[in-house]
Amino acid sequence: MLPIAIIGAGLAGLTAARLLAAAGRPVRVFDKGRGVGGRLATRRITHDGVTHSFDHGAQYVRAEGKGFAALLDEIQARPWPDSLRRVPAPGMSALGRAMAGGLDVTTACEIRALRQEEKGWFLDHAAGAQGPFAAVLVTTPAPQAIPLLAPHAPRLARSLVGIRYAPCWTVLAGFATRLPLPDTLRHRGIIGWAARDSSKPGRDASQENWVIQASPGFSAAHLEETPEHVIAPLLAAFTAETPLFAQAHRWRYALLQSPLGAPCLWDGALGYASDGCLAGRAEAAFDSGTALAQKVLAA
Ligand SMILES: Cc1cc2nc3c(=O)[nH]c(=O)nc-3n(C[C@H](O)[C@H](O)[C@H](O)COP(=O)(O)OP(=O)(O)OC[C@H]3O[C@@H](n4cnc5c(N)ncnc54)[C@H](O)[C@@H]3O)c2cc1C
Repeated sequence: MLPIAIIGAGLAGLTAARLLAAAGRPVRVFDKGRGVGGRLATRRITHDGVTHSFDHGAQYVRAEGKGFAALLDEIQARPWPDSLRRVPAPGMSALGRAMAGGLDVTTACEIRALRQEEKGWFLDHAAGAQGPFAAVLVTTPAPQAIPLLAPHAPRLARSLVGIRYAPCWTVLAGFATRLPLPDTLRHRGIIGWAARDSSKPGRDASQENWVIQASPGFSAAHLEETPEHVIAPLLAAFTAETPLFAQAHRWRYALLQSPLGAPCLWDGALGYASDGCLAGRAEAAFDSGTALAQKVLAA
């Protein structure tokens, strides 16, 4: 049996991969990132020989359905900042790493094109090609999926055009002493959200690590600027204290603005799943990946 290829090792792709593998289908997952988890991401910064950790993508997850709740129980995600919201430990990326266990995942592999040949589907990347595959499931943000799908499934690709995301500039800053602020705050001028990352369970509580997300308006207006240009105004809006260090990360496709309105797309050989199908939160990516795997298994 030819394997199924999954492009994207975020929550949608890993969810689909786990379900297909559990049903006995051979699956291979490819991601352009250095690790798995996609926007459920954790960055480690070493300053003066000390490592600080920051969840620079999703801040917490929340389960409304039983399936996602069971996954969070499986990885022992803990409540933060209240009993409804939960975080994996030691960082958000732990969820993707746990899900990828036992799966065939290739990272640092950006898929540039799909090719259909007599033997099956092939994936082109900088170092060559992978394949043949029986089917290809694309689970990237929609703007990154359209160029892959359009040459082979124009109707499917056209359905993705309406999926839109707001960008998000995110500053990661470590301070020497505790700031006189609550653990989370939101909607403060150009700051959309800020969280004391070191207050999350399983983190080093002796550190004072903050994740500061710019508002969608600020992020869009400064999208093409350098990190240095966004760090200064965001820190100035946040505190008068000088941090020990600060870095910035730009999410070009961060928070969903307009969803597809269907759980997934599947044409019998090519499929699409992501948070963009349903809603801009982690559980929606899980639900979309689940829906696509079920369609593939029912085919
Ligand atoms: C700043 C920020 C804050 C957020 N806060 C929250 C929150 O608090 N709670 C919440 O529930 N959700 C939050 N979200 C949203 C949540 O992170 C997403 O809904 C969810 O992680 C989406 O999962 P996904 O699998 O659909 O996509 P992704 O996680 O984006 O996964 C897609 C993967 O595809 C890979 N990829 C893309 N193109 C290619 C290619 N050509 N070849 C190979 N691989 C490719 C990417 O590297 C990525 O790993 C936040 C997101 C951001 C960015």
